[in-house]
Amino acid sequence: MHELSVTQSILSIALEKANEAHASKVSKINLVVGELSGIVDECVQFYFDFLSKDTIAAEAALFFQESPTQLRCRNCTTIFAPRNGNWACPNCHEPKIEIISGRQLYVESIEVE
Ligand SMILES: [Zn+2]
Repeated sequence: MHELSVTQSILSIALEKANEAHASKVSKINLVVGELSGIVDECVQFYFDFLSKDTIAAEAALFFQESPTQLRCRNCTTIFAPRNGNWACPNCHEPKIEIISGRQLYVESIEVE
């Protein structure tokens, strides 16, 4: 169900941008999906095919680019990526971290005709 609402917003953003550009067709939508977002590409594609019917984005190809997880240590402010599932700071080894990247999903760009 999560993917349905996400896909609805992707489609509305794409249609809005296409409208602004006076495009007659959306050919490609580039998406950035965070590793931790829990979004399943196939689900988004499935809902997109369903929702985009009868819109100018009906034939748009979706491209998913995964964005890696980035963490910041609350103790020493080191920014790092988790390795082998280890989320402790590589500098001071404190497990006090915050997620600064990896949960997001956004439309990076669209291509129109
Ligand atoms: Zn640290």
